Amino acid sequence: MDAESNSCFTKWNAINAHLTNHINKIHKKKKIIVIECYSGVNDEELISNLQNLHHILWINAADAYKDEPEIRQMVYPDVTDDRVFGYLTRLNMIDYFDEQKLQELQNTIIQYGEGVVIIYGCGAAAIQPENDLLIYADMARWEIQLRMRRNEVNNIGVKNKEAPFSEQYKHAYFVDWRVCDRLKKQLMHNWDYVLELNKNNISKESLSGIGIMMPSIVDTTNNKVLSKYVKYADAHEFDFNDWANQTWNLPVVISNDAKAALIGEWQYGAGKNCDDLVMITLGTGVGTAVLSEGKLFKGNHHLGGNLGGHISINMHGNACNCGFFGCVETEASTWALPGLIKQKYFEGSSLSQIEKPEFVHLFEEADKGDVLAQDLVKHCLKAWAVCAVNLVHAYDPARIIISGGIMKRQEEILPYIQNMVDTHAWLSPGSVKIVAAQQVEYAGLLGMEYLVNSLSK
Ligand SMILES: [Zn+2]
Repeated sequence: MDAESNSCFTKWNAINAHLTNHINKIHKKKKIIVIECYSGVNDEELISNLQNLHHILWINAADAYKDEPEIRQMVYPDVTDDRVFGYLTRLNMIDYFDEQKLQELQNTIIQYGEGVVIIYGCGAAAIQPENDLLIYADMARWEIQLRMRRNEVNNIGVKNKEAPFSEQYKHAYFVDWRVCDRLKKQLMHNWDYVLELNKNNISKESLSGIGIMMPSIVDTTNNKVLSKYVKYADAHEFDFNDWANQTWNLPVVISNDAKAALIGEWQYGAGKNCDDLVMITLGTGVGTAVLSEGKLFKGNHHLGGNLGGHISINMHGNACNCGFFGCVETEASTWALPGLIKQKYFEGSSLSQIEKPEFVHLFEEADKGDVLAQDLVKHCLKAWAVCAVNLVHAYDPARIIISGGIMKRQEEILPYIQNMVDTHAWLSPGSVKIVAAQQVEYAGLLGMEYLVNSLSK
């Protein structure tokens, strides 16, 4: 995709032709082209298909990486030996480079006085920030995982494509994707083109539509984003219908992310064979969505079912970012945790030592006997359970699906909420089942697939 004109080319011939044309228009003797890659890009595919750019030098960023043992040692504290747990890395792409090799590589680039020089790979832009054309070769994590399962890709800087999927996934989750995301965010505003490499030889004809999910209130009738959201500040002004039509000649479906996730669970997960569902996602905020009689509950202003996290459960509670007070979110969400820790309790708690406390820390410290943590765990469980009872009273579901990273502790969370609903909701015990989400990572994606495919039905 051409970032400036918002136009899009498919198939390598067209991409090569367009890039060559662009490069020819750069009026400089020496032209530096950077192709920054997300992890998981298939080197052979990219290299073999971009050989018509008349370059005099093709440099692979990986040639300047540290040696493999050194990289393994560098990432080990984050990846760890544990089967499941690790630490989100603080490493940056530049940390992968060996100073001397990097210097040599940069000298090589300088030596060439004219012609097209291409620097390619994960970290290409980190070694050559000055460039005449910046192409971002992107990959979806979903596709990277499929490639890992087929033993097709390595983690960054190591040769491990034959390693078990779980090992590669963990390495990517805690390290590679964080490193790539950080660099991607830095570069995003300077991209000239984005190369979408998820599928080989994808053609417009093979697509049935475009699905976009947004963490915003969405008018699904007109495909408009209604609420302003920091991450995509201009989304509410964007004409998605026009863009999809002009660029792809395809229909587009936009959905709120919580609603898409609920559809995913309904079709492929914990909501199967049930048409009256409520979903609660516990995380940075508390997201909710409602399916009533097999239809997404929408309401008059498209807010319907989305704001369960902003039902007040404490009329003496703190101000919420929504304008209300004592919301479920202000009582028990990750963004509210630092405030709750500070406000309620004493310095002696181990929680006061944690820079960015999350639910997982609460439960861990509670296990270790920290009194504040134990108290806050009880407080959060109660807040979520009260939220569930309120949603039962509002929407009368048959099942409530609970999602979010903290569901690793579902043995504690589910029975607590189930008991509260059985005891306090205006129904006989067992009428509403409290269940854990089954598609924690991909519910949204699966939901969008269903919504896009529903267009043609
Ligand atoms: Zn609120």
